[in-house]
Amino acid sequence: MTSTITPAQAALPPGSTGIDHFAAADAAEHAGVQLRLIKEAAPRFREWFAATGTPAYVGTFDLVSLPYPTKFGLWRAALSPVPFLTITNRLVVVRWDDAEGRTRTLLFEPSDVERDAETPYFKALRATMPQQFERFSVKYHATVEEHLRRLGIRPEEVDYITFDHLHTQDVRRWIGTTTPQADISPSRPVEPYFPNARMIVQKREIEALAELHPLQRPWFLPETYADLRRDAIVEISGDVLLGPGVALLSTPGHTAGNHSLTLNTSTGIWCSSENAIAAECMTPEESRIPGVRRWAARWGQEVIINANTIENTAQQYNSMVKEKSVVDRSRLNPRFLQFFPSSELTRNRLNPGTQPTFSHFAINHGTLTPSR
Ligand SMILES: [Zn+2]
Repeated sequence: MTSTITPAQAALPPGSTGIDHFAAADAAEHAGVQLRLIKEAAPRFREWFAATGTPAYVGTFDLVSLPYPTKFGLWRAALSPVPFLTITNRLVVVRWDDAEGRTRTLLFEPSDVERDAETPYFKALRATMPQQFERFSVKYHATVEEHLRRLGIRPEEVDYITFDHLHTQDVRRWIGTTTPQADISPSRPVEPYFPNARMIVQKREIEALAELHPLQRPWFLPETYADLRRDAIVEISGDVLLGPGVALLSTPGHTAGNHSLTLNTSTGIWCSSENAIAAECMTPEESRIPGVRRWAARWGQEVIINANTIENTAQQYNSMVKEKSVVDRSRLNPRFLQFFPSSELTRNRLNPGTQPTFSHFAINHGTLTPSR
């Protein structure tokens, strides 16, 4: 545990703390060594984390289903010649009581779907198939605002928002800006929709936006971060416990500052990120997607990475093994792990050959009660 209070910790809820179980793995110089150290550290982390307790409530909510290149989502493993598969993005709502008894509300992956459509990658994709793109392959379920309204959570009750990484995210409408924004608020700064919310982000993730590499550029909206309200951003470095059974584990590779929401619930430990697009990518030996099981066996790989950026492939692989090693098995089907893909592979008759063998669809834990 860290012994000094950093400014970031002061902005985090009472009871939050750094986690040092994976410190040796983080410091490892070589990927092979790091992989071993992650596996060695995971059991002790699991034991410790389970003993921190559970949050009061976890719920997940569908935002949008959209096409995604098969070669990215399942990398080289799937045999399907169909260029796209379908993924569903979901919002995760987490509530817990902090060490001083105050209710805390965290939104994980509150994608502003309308704004995110401006991501260079999505714009280029739409340009290639303007009509079909919207009509046949994109399904809007509900917005973040609509889901929260239905749940009875007022915008001012949201304390924290965080994303596994900042690909495609435009957060200006959520936490506000200090200057007018030509595209969405030309005459005055953007008012934050969540007036009390802070965005928790890994320092490395937000720093990388200042000067993107060509492998990173298609996926980010760096100009939307230039004028954000600085006091609404909490930078962290590494693994952090936010509350009982609620942690952010650093899982870099897909991006420099990727992190995974890790939850202890009534069904055991879960982890969520976009490192893989299906639970079966964490246990490819159980996959019935044509090609996947055989490919993993042929190359001796224990995970199938979501490979849209391949910024740092071995590191992403290791981060997925970290996720895989800390979660519990699904009670519905123990052949699969409680890894909840923040963009989950979704059955769609338009893309035969990439139908998921198993889907989580949701995490349901506890009950939502009025905040204290
Ligand atoms: Zn991504």
